[in-house]
Amino acid sequence: MNSSNKNMIKNKDFKIIKNLLPKHKRKSPPSLNENIAFGSIPTNHMLICDYLPRKGGWQTPEIIPYKTFSMTPNSVVFHYGQTIFEGLKAYRSELNDKEIYLFRPDKNAARMALSATRMGMIPFPEDLFVHCIKELVKVEKDWILPSPGALYIRPSMIPLDKGVSYRASETYRFFIILSPSKSYFSTETGISVYIERNLSRAAIGGSGEAKCGGNYASALLPMRTAKEKGAEQVLWLDSNEHKYVEEAGAMNVMFVYNNKIVTPALNGSILHGITRTSVLEIAKVLGYEVEEKRIEISKILSDAKSGKLTEMFACGTAAVISPITCLIDNDEKIIINNEKIGDISRLIKKNLIEIQSGTIKDTYGWRFPIV
Ligand SMILES: *Cc1c(COP(=O)(O)O)cnc(C)c1O
Repeated sequence: MNSSNKNMIKNKDFKIIKNLLPKHKRKSPPSLNENIAFGSIPTNHMLICDYLPRKGGWQTPEIIPYKTFSMTPNSVVFHYGQTIFEGLKAYRSELNDKEIYLFRPDKNAARMALSATRMGMIPFPEDLFVHCIKELVKVEKDWILPSPGALYIRPSMIPLDKGVSYRASETYRFFIILSPSKSYFSTETGISVYIERNLSRAAIGGSGEAKCGGNYASALLPMRTAKEKGAEQVLWLDSNEHKYVEEAGAMNVMFVYNNKIVTPALNGSILHGITRTSVLEIAKVLGYEVEEKRIEISKILSDAKSGKLTEMFACGTAAVISPITCLIDNDEKIIINNEKIGDISRLIKKNLIEIQSGTIKDTYGWRFPIV
């Protein structure tokens, strides 16, 4: 079966109201040589869809001009952190400028539903999620930067109830905003990670598997420490024993030992990255051995020092693959692979970007063409 047919997004009977800006009132996308910070520039339109149980549940989604939300100070959104989000990208074909793809958006839909459930919110219907993204991206398709750039898509959900009594909101707003994205980190140098030995990102039984705002707020202090130590990201350890590696910043983490790639097994506190599973699958197809297991930080440090650990990288939608070339442990610096970006990191990144941007045949069925 042709994979692109399988993923063709069906219209079903979803209705979306479009209230678009007249052409002459729309901003133009930034030019390619403009320096744009990740996620900083919104496009002209956004999509909103409210959950109002008194009006029958999810309302008809609307694509409207990008604008502010007006909230009263006692809105639940400001007090108890019941907020979730997703992150994915739309890609312009390298070969045929007219073709646009999403990468595994069904996985984001499913994960957002899981995040909602974990936070006591109402899950947004998964097929409608994909359809809403498709329709909004079609409206803003001129904003998709050519590869390795893309259009970053940020679906989010917030509570709409008012009143500061502590409870789950009964009403919600699902919304999607977009912003043009260049590559996230400079690709020519690896990043440093600071090993956080005391504070944790997530605990077993906590909300580490959900993309909820609170997880990112509690990571900001360690992030500042990392910056002070000269690192770009935090390397998180498990909260129970502070012995096992979990993630790198808001990315999953992988270790390369010659032809073998190992990554922390999903244990309940690690976010299920879509890039993570994709990298593991690609690595297997490319002939590498892949293992998911508990990984001790002490072993990583000794293997980095002895040179047994040949490469290390972080992976996630925003940055794709970020090679890690330096570990900072308290005040000690441990260099990996002579601070060079490894061949396997480079190869997997290239493969993934080529699938995402339509340069090579998608034998996995991961590309969702938008038509
Ligand atoms: C989003 C995220 C990732 C990466 O997930 P992708 O689906 O690959 O983008 C990894 N860890 C955390 C904590 C995240 O928030």
